[in-house]
Amino acid sequence: MSFCTNCGRPLKNPRPSGMGRVCEKKAPLPPAAVERDLFGYDVAAAASAAQERVALYVQERATLAHAAVRAAFKRVRAEQ
Ligand SMILES: [Zn+2]
Repeated sequence: MSFCTNCGRPLKNPRPSGMGRVCEKKAPLPPAAVERDLFGYDVAAAASAAQERVALYVQERATLAHAAVRAAFKRVRAEQ
């Protein structure tokens, strides 16, 4: 059985995001990509979008790591 990476609840149907339906709805949308327009490239907007993407990625990896640690603890306790 898999568990929601956000709240840790067991999932009946695992999803690609690793989260349950409710947590998926609450999760923030990925930042929009900044495209080159007629006047060039908005460097400040691109930098801020990149920082937002990195922050989301780090948060996601930390959440997955916490879920893995929780699952490992649970498994070890079940073995004792
Ligand atoms: Zn959840």
